[in-house]
Amino acid sequence: MTLAPYASDPQHTRGRRYPEAATAHRSDFQRDSDRVVHSSAFRRLVYKTQVFLNHEGDLFRTRLTHSLEVAQLARSIARALRLNEDLVEAIALAHDLGHTPFGHAGQTALNDCMKAHGGFEHNLQSLRVVDELEQRYPAYDGLNLCFETREGILKHCSVHHARALEVVQPGGVGRRFLDRSSPSLEAQLCNLADEMAYNAHDVDDGVRSGLLRLEQLEGLPLFDPFRRAILAEYPSLGGRRLLYESLRRMLSAQVHDVIETTQAALSRLTPEQAKQVRQQPPLVRFSTDMALRSDELKRFLINHLYRHPQVVASTDQAQQVVYDLFAAYSQHPSELPPEYAARGQSPRVVADYIAGMTDRFAAGEHARLTGRATWA
Ligand code: MG
Repeated sequence: MTLAPYASDPQHTRGRRYPEAATAHRSDFQRDSDRVVHSSAFRRLVYKTQVFLNHEGDLFRTRLTHSLEVAQLARSIARALRLNEDLVEAIALAHDLGHTPFGHAGQTALNDCMKAHGGFEHNLQSLRVVDELEQRYPAYDGLNLCFETREGILKHCSVHHARALEVVQPGGVGRRFLDRSSPSLEAQLCNLADEMAYNAHDVDDGVRSGLLRLEQLEGLPLFDPFRRAILAEYPSLGGRRLLYESLRRMLSAQVHDVIETTQAALSRLTPEQAKQVRQQPPLVRFSTDMALRSDELKRFLINHLYRHPQVVASTDQAQQVVYDLFAAYSQHPSELPPEYAARGQSPRVVADYIAGMTDRFAAGEHARLTGRATWA
């Protein structure tokens, strides 16, 4: 299939930090996606918390299954819009590589620990993973991914951090946060697909956990029309199947909405403007109505799931584990593995090591270093 004129073209990539010759059978963006899949950080995503701690149940999403769902959604939409599917896949699979163990609780705790040392932010950390922390190649640190993949991975960045990035890599992936330009359409798409994926799967996991009840979802404008339509067709349907079918239709409606809204926005541009999508405001987006409904679902999840007392209780424990680990490695750097210890004694090295841990490895290290088991 030919790419749209506004798609990212691997022939015109802004390249890798360490130049590499093109290969015969794979595009540069395909190679990026393959490099991510073969990285150690990617394999660790399977034991990292999305919302529910990894040991709380085998069927809850983890960072890995979340990333696969984002890639699936983004790929479907990319195909319809004739965007670059390989780039979308590379970004989606890599977008959460920098997440700490224990989800947002872990990130908050690590950011606290690093307050006096530049802070900790998972988007920046994802970039650090692919730029520096993966060590697999003889000639350089990191995975040496293309600019376009790295740009998509760094989906948010504060002006403060962007300035720091600019010093090390002038005109690099930090620049757009200073001159307020947009990233590629593929990066914009992954951003939206991330939101679509977690909204839907957090409802599913929330109900599975028993923390959300189906009836609570009845007033939600993004969910309820589908539930009603299904009940009109299958009046006796209830429970899991009703939930799954509602979520399936909800996601399909969002996919169609993004495709149509984005196509309409793109068709209003001249071909010349279309090639310069970075100078336009973000073009991959929901219609106004869908954006409102999506925001309402997000607020619902914040109030009823992410701030549920049971979720908060387990995140409090998880934060303590991170605080204790940070203190233990800072006081006893000899406890760090040799490849980390070799990078010198610094809070950043400790943060990198903790951020890379899976939930269960972090819990095991915590028990070993403190003599206390957090989760029986
Ligand atoms: Mg994500």
